[in-house]
Amino acid sequence: MAVSNEELNRQFEYATRVRQLLLDRTGGKSPKAFTHTYGCQGNVADGEKIDGILSEMGYEFTDDPAEADFILFNTCAVREHAEDRIFGNVGRLKKYKETNPNLIICLCGCMVQQPHIVQRIKDHFRYVDLAFGTHVIYKLPELLYRTLTEEGRVFDISEDNNDIAEDGVIRHNSNIKAFLPVTYGCNNFCTYCVVPYVRGRERSRSYDEVLNEARSLVNQGYKEIMLLGQNVNSYGNDFHEKNLFPKLLRDINDIPGDFLIRFMTSHPKDCSHELLDAMAECEKVERHLHLPVQSGNDRVLKAMNRHYDREHYLELIRYARSIMPDLSITSDIIVGFPGETHEEFLDTISLVKEVGYSALYTFIYSPRVGTKAASLPDPMTRTEKQQWFEELQFAQEQCAAARTEQFRGQVFRVLAEKRNKHGKLEGRTSGNTMIEFDAPDSCLGTFCDVRVTEPLSFVLKGELN
Ligand code: SAH
Ligand code: SF4
Repeated sequence: MAVSNEELNRQFEYATRVRQLLLDRTGGKSPKAFTHTYGCQGNVADGEKIDGILSEMGYEFTDDPAEADFILFNTCAVREHAEDRIFGNVGRLKKYKETNPNLIICLCGCMVQQPHIVQRIKDHFRYVDLAFGTHVIYKLPELLYRTLTEEGRVFDISEDNNDIAEDGVIRHNSNIKAFLPVTYGCNNFCTYCVVPYVRGRERSRSYDEVLNEARSLVNQGYKEIMLLGQNVNSYGNDFHEKNLFPKLLRDINDIPGDFLIRFMTSHPKDCSHELLDAMAECEKVERHLHLPVQSGNDRVLKAMNRHYDREHYLELIRYARSIMPDLSITSDIIVGFPGETHEEFLDTISLVKEVGYSALYTFIYSPRVGTKAASLPDPMTRTEKQQWFEELQFAQEQCAAARTEQFRGQVFRVLAEKRNKHGKLEGRTSGNTMIEFDAPDSCLGTFCDVRVTEPLSFVLKGELN
């Protein structure tokens, strides 16, 4: 269900009131916001919505928190390390409050959707004025109005609202690539993962909304559309339609224009041959499949509640490669799941070698409050897990280096996305490997033919062909 127009209008009225209040406060000058998003692309897409709402309320944006009237951290809860880092950074905000008592400090996103974290903010971070969860982003105008006009701090982590707010203004971080969420939330309850708890049940956006947004992005000149969901392959399951995502890919592919389509994440249990066929047949869909395996061992996969086994995963890869020989495959892997033995871990290493991934995102298991795995016995020490982690990284580095070496001298059509800190233009091959090259700014946002001159394991150096 979508949030009603009546509710969106109510928020619009709050936005108008906030704009006026802020102008009164700043003596007619535009107020300034500093916002920062942690975590996955889904969070980045939320951050772009939040920035859109802030700009509607009259905020301009600054990269310097010292000159901001409003500071917002959009947080990530997927691992403990992310949470610790965010709390460290929140601690550093206190000094800005001391020099600017009118400053509003706000935390939102996945961390804030956890009751124990909210308690910690209430008890130890008293200078945080506003905190809201992942379900009420569209209510930001009302929440900010209350922060500005009421005594005390404002917290809203209600999760009773699963409706999707459409029609908001989005302030995209780039004018070349755009994120396009197709689902929110997750139903899978992998035993290690906090996402279903902090993001709620899976909701698909309406087919027409997604398709219209894709058309509008192409019309605005975006050259890459990244479709997002925790499990894009289950897009539409809540409309009781199976395999709607491959149809969506085909329909977006049919939009006239020179642009690319990427998507993530595909859960192996729902990755169908139909999806792979659609990828193979759609010329705008890039040759990259992010298919997180998590572990190469069947017992561990079962304990993770992943609903596939090693053989099913490998069968998918074999089929995908039979129809797309140049397909690049990437994955996520968790090392040191509770009770994992060294032998079981070696099954992951052997799977990594067998598949030959282009890149891996590897994580040491991090217990998350409220998840099933957090209560399992976990006898392995952190030092041992760290050793396995390094073993895995070493194995992957060798696979990646052998793969990129084959690219020496090859020419790729690359969308020039940005100028990086080395002064080079940067983009990605169809298989999502980063490539950097010398070129003038006029190439930004265009497709360039780039020849690989120096292939490193994780980045290619090249020159315009
Ligand atoms: N929906 C995606 C993943 C989202 S979270 C999928 O199912 O593939 C991104 C990655 O973080 C996961 O794939 C997993 O590898 C890692 N991750 C999630 N929870 C974790 C935890 N508790 N400890 C370590 N890594 C975790
Ligand atoms: Fe987490 Fe599993 Fe859902 Fe991915 S599919 S978000 S890992 S519960």
